[in-house]
Amino acid sequence: MIVNLAEQAQYKLLDDHRVEVSARTLWGQLEIALNRHGRAFPIHTDYLNLSVGGTLSVGGIGVRSLVHGLQIDQVEKLRLILPDGSVRWCSPEENANLFRFSLAGLGQVGIIETAVLRTIPYRKQSRIYMYGHRNLTALAESIAWMQERKRPLPDFFHAVRMHGQVTSVFGLDDDDKSQEKWKPEAYPEFLLGVQPVADFPFWSHAIQEQWLQEQPNHMRIWSDYFFDFEGFVDFLAFLDTLVRDRRVSPYIWAIYVLMIRSTEESGQFPFSPAAFQPAPPLVYSVGVYGSVSEIDMEGKAMTKDICPRIQEKAFALHGRPYLHGSYQLNRESLLALYGREYETFLALKRQVDPSSLLNANIHLHRAGLLPA
Ligand SMILES: Cc1cc2nc3c(=O)[nH]c(=O)nc-3n(C[C@H](O)[C@H](O)[C@H](O)COP(=O)(O)OP(=O)(O)OC[C@H]3O[C@@H](n4cnc5c(N)ncnc54)[C@H](O)[C@@H]3O)c2cc1C
Repeated sequence: MIVNLAEQAQYKLLDDHRVEVSARTLWGQLEIALNRHGRAFPIHTDYLNLSVGGTLSVGGIGVRSLVHGLQIDQVEKLRLILPDGSVRWCSPEENANLFRFSLAGLGQVGIIETAVLRTIPYRKQSRIYMYGHRNLTALAESIAWMQERKRPLPDFFHAVRMHGQVTSVFGLDDDDKSQEKWKPEAYPEFLLGVQPVADFPFWSHAIQEQWLQEQPNHMRIWSDYFFDFEGFVDFLAFLDTLVRDRRVSPYIWAIYVLMIRSTEESGQFPFSPAAFQPAPPLVYSVGVYGSVSEIDMEGKAMTKDICPRIQEKAFALHGRPYLHGSYQLNRESLLALYGREYETFLALKRQVDPSSLLNANIHLHRAGLLPA
């Protein structure tokens, strides 16, 4: 285990509004530093005490993924420490395979030491519009128009089902007049409220931190799947049925929905959950988050039982897993998901990490190296 966290942001501003940052830096630390320079990172996770290296190793989704894609899409290059101790810079042009398999690759081919990232202008103030939906299926119907991309989109978006309520949040930056924006009055759903928010990433972090503190002795089992629109609609219908089962619903703490802008480049990282080929205009992520008290044995058994059912349905709908979560992947499912890229990864892994020093227990390479 490597505990690799910085006490404060370790960064250097570069030309063209790029920043070079140590992977040990926490996103919250980096954001405070960037904001002082009038800049911001495009995508934040809803909890900011996560390291730059940690989320780049899984992908990084947030409310602004609707406009900017994943965190890994913002990376220009990386400085990677290989298991033999040597150090390489890598980018799409230089050591391209190390680059492609490091980002969203669960730290299998090297330790990310430094990343060079793109930044955007810092906008402090935004307004959020909160809407209520009858159920998840109604949510999917109400956002179908975004798929067509004929009308302007909001600056950020997410939706959640929690305590039996389905809510979506549309965000608009107050001081960005650069393009035509989504107009709240054009949205027909039930408006629950409008609220001004300063520094949305920190606002959202505070809520997330409070939730985590409310359940200190809970075991969390998370899995997120990414879909095209058709798969998304069918998966939400499946979840609507699942949460009606009273034995199951107490353990499904939250269901999160995010949208991710996707481009042909999104396919460059083989393990990225958003790497659909061909790329649909938007990709939809659905996170199913189970939470159960450490002493609730029945609940723990139930939660563990639900995960494979959810995975089976998600894979049947051609969903791609977000690898930070809990999945049961064998060689067959890895090949079905990643095809020939998976063989390329195994060959790279054998070359750079023949003794499997890095993340020895991760299914991603264990399943591939073991006999089928
Ligand atoms: C409360 C909470 C909220 C979250 N919200 C979101 C969210 O909104 N969006 C989202 O996308 N994700 C979210 N996540 C998931 C998160 O992105 C992953 O758990 C991520 O891996 C956490 O980063 P970490 O710094 O804790 O890394 P760790 O958990 O320590 O590491 C995760 C993986 O990355 C590898 N790794 C870590 N650092 C490096 C490095 N420097 N070089 C190479 N490999 C490395 C590790 O070996 C491991 O495989 C959330 C997680 C939590 C706990």
